[in-house]
Amino acid sequence: MTARIIDGKTIAADLRGKVADSVHRLKRDRGIVPGIAVVLVGEDPASQVYVRTKSNMVASSGMNAYDRKLPANTREAELLEVIAALNADPAVNGILVQLPLPRQIDTHKVIAAIDPDKDVDGFHPLNVGRLSAGFPSLVPCTPLGCIMLAKSVQASFSDMEAVVIGRSNIVGKPVAQLLLAEHATVTIAHSRTRDLPALCRRADLLVAAAGRPEMVRGDWVKPGAIVIDVGINRVAGEGGKSKIVGDVAFAEAAQVAGAITPVPGGVGPMTIACLLLNTLRAACMQNGLSAPNF
Ligand code: NAP
Repeated sequence: MTARIIDGKTIAADLRGKVADSVHRLKRDRGIVPGIAVVLVGEDPASQVYVRTKSNMVASSGMNAYDRKLPANTREAELLEVIAALNADPAVNGILVQLPLPRQIDTHKVIAAIDPDKDVDGFHPLNVGRLSAGFPSLVPCTPLGCIMLAKSVQASFSDMEAVVIGRSNIVGKPVAQLLLAEHATVTIAHSRTRDLPALCRRADLLVAAAGRPEMVRGDWVKPGAIVIDVGINRVAGEGGKSKIVGDVAFAEAAQVAGAITPVPGGVGPMTIACLLLNTLRAACMQNGLSAPNF
């Protein structure tokens, strides 16, 4: 069997297009332009590239960007003041603080300081609680993207056994909550899980978010399964160059799976598209409008 490739680039472009259409209508009909503030502290090169990509996509969606770039030696109190100002600014509907933060700043304190209604990353404890309790909430972007990719293959997960490898607050736990909300039977695996290959072989839907290059081999995959590879791992490539691989040994797994996301070009592009969607939803909710559900 050769798996269907789940094309994250195309699905993300389609989602960004839908968001841009909604932003256009919101502006035309209500005079509302959603605004997002991405806060970057320091000069981490990977974060800078990521923030630049985000800013370009925010601009092309028709939203306003209120980005803040702060020096690496910014004190925690200064960052909290910036967040308080963004919380109070009605033009800003979404706030995202780029992680990781420099050592002198307590990440938990900063996340908790963001207005939960503007928390487009979905990391605020209130949104984490809302998600686990099944209340409407802003949902973390990468997990939301994973669900959309899986749904592009299978509309309902209700009779499916899902295994999520990884239990981080950013990916593993929220993915598991979203799958549970979609009626999958969910198992969360982590570094202490016994016989991970056998567990994975039971999965109709396998989400790999361990940050371990090509850990999931072809013989870990149940024939016909949907495989969502969240991993982004830089490894040595040919000719002394580096390359990006996922947590799944793609060539092997694609021989067994029913559908699989590539890396790059799978989950990655969905993350920013879902950030735009979350910002649009936040803007609608803050203005008493029903949030679009694509
Ligand atoms: P993380 O915080 O390091 O969490 C990794 C999780 O994987 C932990 O729960 C860990 O278990 C588990 N794990 C590690 N080694 C394992 C093993 N050998 N067997 C089973 N479980 C193992 O990472 P993260 O932030 O969730 O990110 C995971 C991956 O997704 C990374 O490659 C990251 O770059 C990528 N990512 C991609 C996007 C995107 O946009 N595509 C966004 C976010 C993250 P313990 O809890 O027991 O340590």
